[in-house]
Amino acid sequence: MVARALERPRRLLMAALLLGVPMTAAVAAGWASSQAQADLRESAQAQLTLYNANLRAELERHAAVPLALAQDAEVRALLAYPSPAAMERLNRKLEDIARALDALALYVMDARGTTVAASNWKDASSFVGENFSYRPYFRMAIDQGEGHHFALGTTSLVPGYYTANRVVAENRTVGAVVLKLGFDRLERAWAPGQEKLLVTDRDGVVFITNMPSWRYHALPRRLPISLPIVPQGTSEGLDVLPWIFGGASDRIALEEKVGLRHYLLTSVAMPGGDWTLHSLTSRDPVNARAWVAGLLAAAAAALAALTAYAVALRRVALVERIALQEESRAELERRVAAATADLRAAENELTQAAKLAALGQMSAGIAHEINQPLAAMRSFADNAVVLLDRGRMDAVRDNLAEIAALTDRMAAITRQLKGFARRASGTLGPVSVQAAVGQALALLESKLRRDDIAVEVDMPDRPVWVVGEDVRLQQVLVNLIGNAVDAMRGCPVRRLRIGLMSAEGEALLSVADTGHGIAEADLPRLFVPFFTTKEAGEGLGLGLSISHGIVEDFGGSLTAANRNGEPGQGAAFTLRLKTTEHPA
Ligand code: ADP
Repeated sequence: MVARALERPRRLLMAALLLGVPMTAAVAAGWASSQAQADLRESAQAQLTLYNANLRAELERHAAVPLALAQDAEVRALLAYPSPAAMERLNRKLEDIARALDALALYVMDARGTTVAASNWKDASSFVGENFSYRPYFRMAIDQGEGHHFALGTTSLVPGYYTANRVVAENRTVGAVVLKLGFDRLERAWAPGQEKLLVTDRDGVVFITNMPSWRYHALPRRLPISLPIVPQGTSEGLDVLPWIFGGASDRIALEEKVGLRHYLLTSVAMPGGDWTLHSLTSRDPVNARAWVAGLLAAAAAALAALTAYAVALRRVALVERIALQEESRAELERRVAAATADLRAAENELTQAAKLAALGQMSAGIAHEINQPLAAMRSFADNAVVLLDRGRMDAVRDNLAEIAALTDRMAAITRQLKGFARRASGTLGPVSVQAAVGQALALLESKLRRDDIAVEVDMPDRPVWVVGEDVRLQQVLVNLIGNAVDAMRGCPVRRLRIGLMSAEGEALLSVADTGHGIAEADLPRLFVPFFTTKEAGEGLGLGLSISHGIVEDFGGSLTAANRNGEPGQGAAFTLRLKTTEHPA
């Protein structure tokens, strides 16, 4: 039964583990992945804004230097009145300042765009004498007072950020001071970052990056994404960045030592220039979060399935236990019923056996009782024959009358015996206590007489009716009186006292004697079957226990005590019975 009951939960568990758990894991992983992706995009965007600010700050770090130099008297003097000595002095000064600033170059141009003094005046690639009038920063400085430009140096081929300021002397423009900063410092600062960073120019060529191998590489020709600034110029002949596109447009894969790694591409245009700042952020956290969420969901789903299974198991076990309990309760009831029936039968048997025993005990007395009248009748009959021969008719009549009286007496004895041997009918009805006492005394008359026992009866004249059955009540009284006679054997005073009182629906019948009484220790076990203090063959120890049972059947009680509360003065038994109406 249990195996069958468990089959369904087991099948459901298997289904949950094989289908439910992977499905839950997949859904959770997908959800976590899209959440993580959104988070990653957001944080990458924020990070990029920071890098952008950082880049601009770096480039404008020394913007005040060319501005200050444009006001410098020495610079103005040189541009207004050039002289080799002044030029030499300015060259040295510019060299010192550039070194202190860690700048790529610091130089002064005249109004026509020709460099008159430069920090790199000593180098082979010296700017001195070169004309950069075509450079946008120069034009902007001359026209607007200040100019900025990202560019590759034409002489040095080193990328840099140019800041130029106009020099005005005696109300006319005499030239410009230019500072060119490199990106080494910035690249070094970016290097340890999580992100791969790069800046591309308008042609889509990488100029600044924390990935040295990517420098001067071009963005792929056809990008699946729209960049803030579309590369326009030519980058032919340059290597292309090793980016692999796939999946969503902003996802880029890179072939690395450990294998294919995935990145999120974020780009932003730099204001004031044609340059674009890009960052590549690792997508590992997205995958990790998806994995963790998937595993957690799988574990939770499996746990839920197992818990449900455990609950189902418990329920099945409980149902089974209840069924077992029900079964054992029914079995117990059956046994109790059987045992009760057995006990009833045994009790009936015992009652009958006790009666027979009492009958046996009495038969000796009865034989004696009947032998006496028989012998008397014999001698009366013999005498009558003799008297008849002599013609003494009166005397014959007297003898015959004696014989008749004797037969009456014998008939009375046998009548009592017949009543006693009859099995109890089992139906309760009104019984006269006085009648029962009278019959019991009559039954035991010879015994009482033989032991010379004085009988005192103190009962009301009006009959007292109790609930019971005459034969069985008689049996109880025969028992109690018989025991009293036995107890008084050999005692100097032998008096049996029977008293009856009735009040409040109850009759109290007492049977007291002046015998040896009951030992204190025996009092609690008097009514236990087979308890006897009599010698073997004299008592079975059943009388009181059966009497007790009979009285209880009547709805009454039987108790024992010593007269005056102590042994040696005789015993007193009290029968408590329910009184009833006189029978109709
Ligand atoms: P039995 O008479 O066969 O012994 P009973 O059940 O009638 O069995 O009595 C049990 C015992 O109770 C007796 O053996 C006796 O010791 C004690 N007993 C009963 N009636 C009296 C009495 N009137 N006086 C003293 N002892 C008694």
